Amino acid sequence: MLKFVGTAQAYPGKREAELRAEDFREIADRYAVPSAEEQSSRCSQCGVPYCSVHCPLHNHIPDWLRLTAEGRLREAYQLSNSTSTMPEICGRICPQDRLCEGNCVIEFSGHGAVTIGSVEKFITDTAWEEGWVEPVAVGPARGQSVGIIGAGPAGLAAAEYLREYGYDVHVYDRHDRAGGLLTYGIPGFKLEKHVVMRRIERLEQGGVVFHLGFEVGREANLDELRKRHTTLLIATGVYKARGIQAPGVGAKGIVEALDYLTASNRKGFGDAVPAFDDGSLDANGKHVVVIGGGDTAMDCVRTAVRQGAASVKCLYRRDRANMPGSQRETANAEEEGVEFVWLSAPEAFDGVDTVTGVRASRMRLGAPDASGRRAPEVDPGGAFQLKADLVVKALGFEPEDLPRLFGAEELGVTRWGTLRTDGRTMMTSLDGVFAAGDIVRGASLVVWAIRDGRDVAAHMHAWMRARADTARAA
Ligand code: FAD
Ligand code: SF4
Ligand code: SF4
Repeated sequence: MLKFVGTAQAYPGKREAELRAEDFREIADRYAVPSAEEQSSRCSQCGVPYCSVHCPLHNHIPDWLRLTAEGRLREAYQLSNSTSTMPEICGRICPQDRLCEGNCVIEFSGHGAVTIGSVEKFITDTAWEEGWVEPVAVGPARGQSVGIIGAGPAGLAAAEYLREYGYDVHVYDRHDRAGGLLTYGIPGFKLEKHVVMRRIERLEQGGVVFHLGFEVGREANLDELRKRHTTLLIATGVYKARGIQAPGVGAKGIVEALDYLTASNRKGFGDAVPAFDDGSLDANGKHVVVIGGGDTAMDCVRTAVRQGAASVKCLYRRDRANMPGSQRETANAEEEGVEFVWLSAPEAFDGVDTVTGVRASRMRLGAPDASGRRAPEVDPGGAFQLKADLVVKALGFEPEDLPRLFGAEELGVTRWGTLRTDGRTMMTSLDGVFAAGDIVRGASLVVWAIRDGRDVAAHMHAWMRARADTARAA
């Protein structure tokens, strides 16, 4: 260990930009065993590991790095798996520069962080290949059942822990495949779908029952589900797309980011997608303008490149330093030929029936707003026009109106529309109904959804045990 002085930081290689633009496969190579061991040995085994402190799961990072450096990969896998239900997924898509790696002490000393995410991915990918990943360790049956609404990372993590506690677990999702945004939001070039599907199959084999194509609010209301199960978890994520108020915004060819990404992911599964096949959600041969500067916008521009767009531009109202999206993904997009038009905002969309262009204003950064970020304001005299025959709106997501959709007006929400939960128990305003993930936090990260799933499972377990004890005593 402590080899960070003599051994330079080295991430696994990336495929050439021209090659990776031809398909939806992940862009990063895998470490070979010696490289993973060598990179792990750079860790200085801090007494207070800031990497772990800043990992939402508080993974035992220095310990599994040491085991990897020593060639004890199976033990590294077991330790890594003890705090996370999907380490290989987090290793792929966590914004490590803002979490574990961004807080690694050797990054601050100027030697470049330990490549924690890539090693984490390597450990569990190896475990899958070697057959070390064991079935879900189902606990003794308790005769109580849990209904989970939403099969995204929060719901799936909770399902796994609740099965281990011995509960019957039923997961309801309106989609035809489980995985939430792991399946239909995040593109394959960041997270190949077989990586998600093998996790879901493992849960199915562990007895988790999936009710797919089941939309709560349509197939059943919340009250009906409460009657079916001892307790419920709401983990439905946030899906109401933020809009743009601008003349012409209703024209054909102006589409929502998630519709666009879902269609592309479905094509990757081999599904028939009429709105893609008729060209509406296909960027092939088109001049594409994506509006937004977050991770969703980055995924859209890079999807458009892979679909063979004639040109891809990303319009964002702040500058590069103030964008919410990951710098790593922005750099990847630039390598793949995306042009960023910083400090720009759409004013109107041209085209009689179908969009033909975007009229935009130059922006400048003014005084900081309430959040402390410098607010963008129009820079007078800086109007310009861009040719566009596909415009993708990627301005973020807000919660849907769940009390109305679920027929449960008494379900408490915050002023932002997220579900209001008790900070100590994660229970909503309804007795025995818990909530976790983006529907509580607002749009966040996969690793936080997994953390919430882990925590809420423990709270639900405590609640059900107390209920069983009361029933026994009565
Ligand atoms: P979701 O993953 O949204 O899952 C919720 C599930 O609930 C869905 O399957 C939905 O179909 C289901 N559902 C909703 N309503 C109902 C209903 N009424 N009845 C039944 N089922 C219902 N995070 C990262 O960490 N790294 C990234 O690189 C990253 N990239 C992203 C890219 C995109 C395009 C987007 C949109 C998000 C990205 N995120 C990323 C954020 C991350 O995906 C989310 O924070 C995370 O998936 C939230 O998990 P969740 O389980 O709370 O919700
Ligand atoms: Fe880093 Fe995410 Fe893994 Fe935690 S879960 S160690 S933040 S990559
Ligand atoms: Fe190792 Fe960096 Fe974590 Fe310290 S902060 S334990 S050097 S990975």
